[in-house]
Amino acid sequence: MTPPALEVRDLHKTFADLEVLKGVSLTANTGDVISILGSSGSGKSTFLRCINLLETPTEGSIIVKGETLRLKRDASGNLSPEDAAQVQRIRAKLAMVFQGFNLWSHMTVLENLIEAPVHVLKVPRAEAIERAEALLHKVGMYERRSYYPMHISGGQQQRAAIARALAMQPDAILFDEPTSALDPELVGEVLKVMRVLAEEGSTMIVVTHEMGFAREVSSRVVFLHQGRVEEEGPPAEVFNNPRSERFRQFLSGKL
Ligand code: ADP
Ligand code: MG
Repeated sequence: MTPPALEVRDLHKTFADLEVLKGVSLTANTGDVISILGSSGSGKSTFLRCINLLETPTEGSIIVKGETLRLKRDASGNLSPEDAAQVQRIRAKLAMVFQGFNLWSHMTVLENLIEAPVHVLKVPRAEAIERAEALLHKVGMYERRSYYPMHISGGQQQRAAIARALAMQPDAILFDEPTSALDPELVGEVLKVMRVLAEEGSTMIVVTHEMGFAREVSSRVVFLHQGRVEEEGPPAEVFNNPRSERFRQFLSGKL
């Protein structure tokens, strides 16, 4: 049996004395699109950041394609060299798309796409360029491949950022509110690209406030409230028949 693309078990994260995640579990099979909903401060970003180890979980396990991440740190908070190598390798397989685009500003769109494949994955440059160009076609950014980020719109930057994530041939793509910083008229073009990826079978974990996307595109919806999974299920079920009172309140804009 193929292991899930990503499995998170009983994840806890504490900052100083603030417990932000209180035991969150999630399984994403290959091709799943999981939308994570929740009000501001519920722990959504922290959850994604723990999954790709931008934050170190306090407790719990993360298993990527059957490989368990070793997260034990020594007294000064450092990983052993072998574990650090594992973290770097796995992180490269869990691409992240942020709210704020985060393209490298001193590189063109095309250079943004080939940087990590060449330097991290050691893909030959010519091959990286060929793959990058194909991805830029896919997200409708080929014509803008020689532009610097500051000379293209936010929607174009975000589409390029998604192509950059794809260039790493990730096992799963983590999106943290990818359309929240965009002018309203640019949201649609980014959601459209995300829908195409979903249809093609990409495994995606998407923190979003776009209820249309969550309802129509996701295979599962997870509602986080104060660091816990408060409601979870297929979109038709959770939207039409929410069990949790808090999720009802969230949906009606009262939370
Ligand atoms: P969301 O993305 O759902 O809005 P976050 O995961 O960003 O929520 O934050 C959840 C809680 O964790 C908030 O109370 C926030 O202030 C706190 N938090 C997030 N990151 C840190 C950090 N690095 N240090 C201390 N507290 C943090
Ligand atoms: Mg957030």
